Amino acid sequence: RQIQKFFPIKTGLFSKVTGHVHAVDGVSFSVKKGETLALVGESGCGKSTVGRSILRLFELTSGEVILDGTRIDNLSAGALRPLRKRIQVIFQDPFSSLNPRMRVHDIIAEPIRNFGLESDEAKIKERVVYLLDKVRLPKDAGERWPHEFSGGQRQRICIARALAAEPELIICDEAVSALDVSVKAQIVNLLQDLQKELGLALLFISHDLAIVEHMTHRVAVMYLGRIVELADRTELFSDPKHPYTSALLSAVPVPDPEKKTTRIVLQGDVPSPVKRPSGCHFHTRCPEAIDICKTKEPKQTILPSGRMVACHLREV
Ligand code: SF4
Ligand code: MG
Repeated sequence: RQIQKFFPIKTGLFSKVTGHVHAVDGVSFSVKKGETLALVGESGCGKSTVGRSILRLFELTSGEVILDGTRIDNLSAGALRPLRKRIQVIFQDPFSSLNPRMRVHDIIAEPIRNFGLESDEAKIKERVVYLLDKVRLPKDAGERWPHEFSGGQRQRICIARALAAEPELIICDEAVSALDVSVKAQIVNLLQDLQKELGLALLFISHDLAIVEHMTHRVAVMYLGRIVELADRTELFSDPKHPYTSALLSAVPVPDPEKKTTRIVLQGDVPSPVKRPSGCHFHTRCPEAIDICKTKEPKQTILPSGRMVACHLREV
């Protein structure tokens, strides 16, 4: 699953396209049925771009997206249509992602009609009521309007709409980031229950490592458009191999005061994706950088346990 995506950007007085933002570069991963893969990193690292590339909301510059053995990034719109329903997305802001002029029933019924899953209105109604129940909203919620619901309830509506398409993969792009802590936990639990029940694959894009530690199976860490580490959640959290992962994890508050951690404070901000540092993109902020890091890009090394890390200190 190689994905490469460049955004053309405009600079200069004449608004000519003079550069490329390297948003995502050779990103490669797979998500299995019934599995949650988290994509983590600071904002601007390219996490959302990966999600959108999979959805083909943007055209890919190069690279490929493979769903179930079928390459989908080069399909025509017509050939893509039946695949569209198999991948659904839930965005961060449930306030802007629901049409305020549609009743909840029609919001959830829309994908059922659009994907031709059912045409009989009575059956569609039944299906909507079933989906409302699945996301634990009252039966009569369908008759109401989005503005009558809280942020958490709206996110439940978004989940019901995503489920209505009967997808195999749901991309959750910061789907719980805007919610209050207690509501966040409820939505995460709901997603986990639905995943178990329906065998869904979840791509969980998030900068919130406390949530990620709670809910994912595997974690991919991104920095400036590259995956720098990919490992099982327990391995990654207990024994990070990449200096960037160590820094990210050291910033997560630890509930257990016995567990001593030293906070690693990274110098500076994430560099501009327009002009990424040479060699290892992380070398300008890495506390462990050595000379070679400035000039040579580290290889993605698969360690004996099967996890991946891209760092000169870990090359074997
Ligand atoms: Fe740090 Fe060098 Fe490893 Fe990059 S390759 S993470 S700069 S030690
Ligand atoms: Mg984002």
